[in-house]
Amino acid sequence: MTKLFDLHKKLYKLFYKRPIVILVTLLCVGLGVALKGSYYLSINLVDSQAIQYARVAVKTMNEAGRLYSSNVVDRVNFMDDVTVSPEYHSVSGGIPNPATYTIELGERITDISEGVLFRLYSDYPFPNRQRTGGPRDRFEREALNYLQEHPEASFYRKDKLGDRLCFRYTEAVVMQPSCVACHNALPNSPKHDWKVGEVRGIVEITQPVDNILLIASDGLKAIYTTQAILIGLAILGLILVIGKFRTINEELEEKVAERTVALHRLATVDDLTQLVNRREFNKLLEQEWRRGLRRQKPLSLILCDIDYFKNYNDTYGHLAGDDCLSFVARALQSSVKGDREVAARYGGEEFAIVLPEADSVEASQVAALIRNAIHNLKIPHKTSWNYNYVTVSMGIASFIPSYSKSYEHLIQASDEALYEAKNRGRDRFVVFNDLQLKH
Ligand code: GH3
Ligand code: MG
Ligand code: MG
Repeated sequence: MTKLFDLHKKLYKLFYKRPIVILVTLLCVGLGVALKGSYYLSINLVDSQAIQYARVAVKTMNEAGRLYSSNVVDRVNFMDDVTVSPEYHSVSGGIPNPATYTIELGERITDISEGVLFRLYSDYPFPNRQRTGGPRDRFEREALNYLQEHPEASFYRKDKLGDRLCFRYTEAVVMQPSCVACHNALPNSPKHDWKVGEVRGIVEITQPVDNILLIASDGLKAIYTTQAILIGLAILGLILVIGKFRTINEELEEKVAERTVALHRLATVDDLTQLVNRREFNKLLEQEWRRGLRRQKPLSLILCDIDYFKNYNDTYGHLAGDDCLSFVARALQSSVKGDREVAARYGGEEFAIVLPEADSVEASQVAALIRNAIHNLKIPHKTSWNYNYVTVSMGIASFIPSYSKSYEHLIQASDEALYEAKNRGRDRFVVFNDLQLKH
């Protein structure tokens, strides 16, 4: 059951991956079956047509013989000056006996019908027909043997005659009550003990079928060509449609990927400053905390707050305040260099810088760089109490993460250090350790 399910799954996968190859194969198999079927159908049609024609012709010949026997021979038998004989040509007042009549009728029809051959033959031909009246080839011998056993049946097949393919059909000619007396009485009859119902001979119709088969095969070729063209077009259409679907699918996948990136950005990046937002900052800090916990490496955090920013807004307006936040953010961003170092907007005019695997000394170096970078911006701030330009204060905390603490302790420690930096006159940074020492 599971094997069957696996096979089903494999087939499904294969079909999903290679639909064109599979559809083309199925179409070709279908076309092959249809073509083979139409080939056999046309052959069968030719055969059944030939059988039907042969049956009608044999019936006509037999009926002509019987009619001649009952309506002519039987009536003239009593006339003394009329002789019924196979050699009637050489007898004055002679007329042919029914068999000779039928044979000659067959010969005449043979002469006028193209390639069709009518023949009557038997194991006991009259002396004047010794040369042609017996079976002349293997088929005729087989027909005689078979029909002697099965007089009601017919015997036929396709056979090569000379360079032509022919359909040969035979039936038995059975001794009729009206013929038996005459046949037994005739002096030159080759057999004198005929009984009614015995097979007296064979009637054969031979029709060439190579022309019909040629016509049929020409017709088939036309059908094959049309079908091949139609299937070719169908396959082309399929390839185009599937190709189109694939392109649409790829475009959709690209769009989904783009939207996913855009959504992720929207969810993680602060719109005004283009820095990582508070939520993403929390996530990243927690990740770094766990990593530091595993590796027992220090993790540093700098909290950074713009000095007298309320005054800045009041002096230059809220829009200018927004611009100022952007400039400061850019300066912070360019101060973080490492792969996993992150500058985030912590909220309002506060920022956070995460420095994985950095101790307080390294974090202090970054803070010094930031201070310098902000100074270099030279954003005028005439209502700042300590300087005519925008400045920032920073609180630094560096922990080797431990199970007894969490990343929130790191934030809290930095916040305390920031508070101290504000207290000590702003435009500076304070390290939480120093703070502890000071306490
Ligand atoms: P301190 O030196 O003690 O930090 O003083 P401060 O004035 O900077 O501090 P305070 O907390 O009193 O004021 C912060 C101001 O930051 C108040 C608020 O209007 C402003 N602010 C917060 N977010 C934004 C913002 O997105 N855009 C602008 N333009 N201003 C903001
Ligand atoms: Mg503040
Ligand atoms: Mg402030």
